[in-house]
Amino acid sequence: MSGSGNSDRKIKEMAELLKEGATMLSYICPDCKVPLFRLKNGIIICPSCKRRVILSIETDLKGEALERGITNKFEFKIYVENLKEKIYNKINMMLEEINDINDPNKINNILSIIERLIRILKELQ
Ligand SMILES: [Zn+2]
Repeated sequence: MSGSGNSDRKIKEMAELLKEGATMLSYICPDCKVPLFRLKNGIIICPSCKRRVILSIETDLKGEALERGITNKFEFKIYVENLKEKIYNKINMMLEEINDINDPNKINNILSIIERLIRILKELQ
């Protein structure tokens, strides 16, 4: 009966995660076949092997779109386009902000964020 005890423990751990505000995703861990969870801080983990799972941006977005009830390809495309627009706007805002900043450390911080946003944009193309 050790098998059923093991799955009881898994269910308990998943319930615990949900209580902590984590979201259950529609993806399963390739090793233990249990649903993955996104923690409040954005990190995705497998509750069973306690491993951090990195999804590709597109896979992650598809999961998020699904959670918002977006199920067809066309709606997903619009969702991604909206996201791209938000990222473009953010980059523009930050570039304007740089004009008023003299502190090189702050400028460096902003530039590294912009760099990251551009990388995400590239992945979304
Ligand atoms: Zn796992």
